[in-house]
Amino acid sequence: MHILLIFWQLSQWIAIGFVFLGLKVMRRSYTITRLFNTYAVDAGIKKGAFSLGPFIFGPMSFTADEKSAFFMHEFGHSLQSRLLGPFYLPIIGLPSLLSAALFPKEHNERWFEVWANRLAISFSDTLQLDNNRSKHDKLDYGLNTKSSFSWKDIVLVTPTVLLVVLLFWITAN
Ligand SMILES: [Zn+2]
Repeated sequence: MHILLIFWQLSQWIAIGFVFLGLKVMRRSYTITRLFNTYAVDAGIKKGAFSLGPFIFGPMSFTADEKSAFFMHEFGHSLQSRLLGPFYLPIIGLPSLLSAALFPKEHNERWFEVWANRLAISFSDTLQLDNNRSKHDKLDYGLNTKSSFSWKDIVLVTPTVLLVVLLFWITAN
């Protein structure tokens, strides 16, 4: 792990620390599998998974598998984390958490979910072509690549906007 990448994703690493602490407190046993420098933890999450830095916390028997659409989607979030660093949690993490809680039916149409899918698909495609496989042999994950903007996006981004305003207000006073 590159040291600069750890600093870039420091807020995610702090959150990772808390999650592992929580798993320890709950005496939950887990195994970690690794793929593409990303670590899948079968943390026994009841519904879905969440991605923090290079770690993905998922349900029981969750493993890092390049053929799994579920893992690849979460890996897409992991790529967003690498790209966005300190901006990942406010721009992707918080809205995504709210979206899954408030509008679960349309969760996978939100732009941040579709972006995660696209990143994962293009990563997989590059990998496949690098291995000299033809375009037809590319893995089809069946992941949604069409986003739809709606008033829900405004709702989901509002807490982040309020946090930024609050931060400016505190530093200005
Ligand atoms: Zn997602």
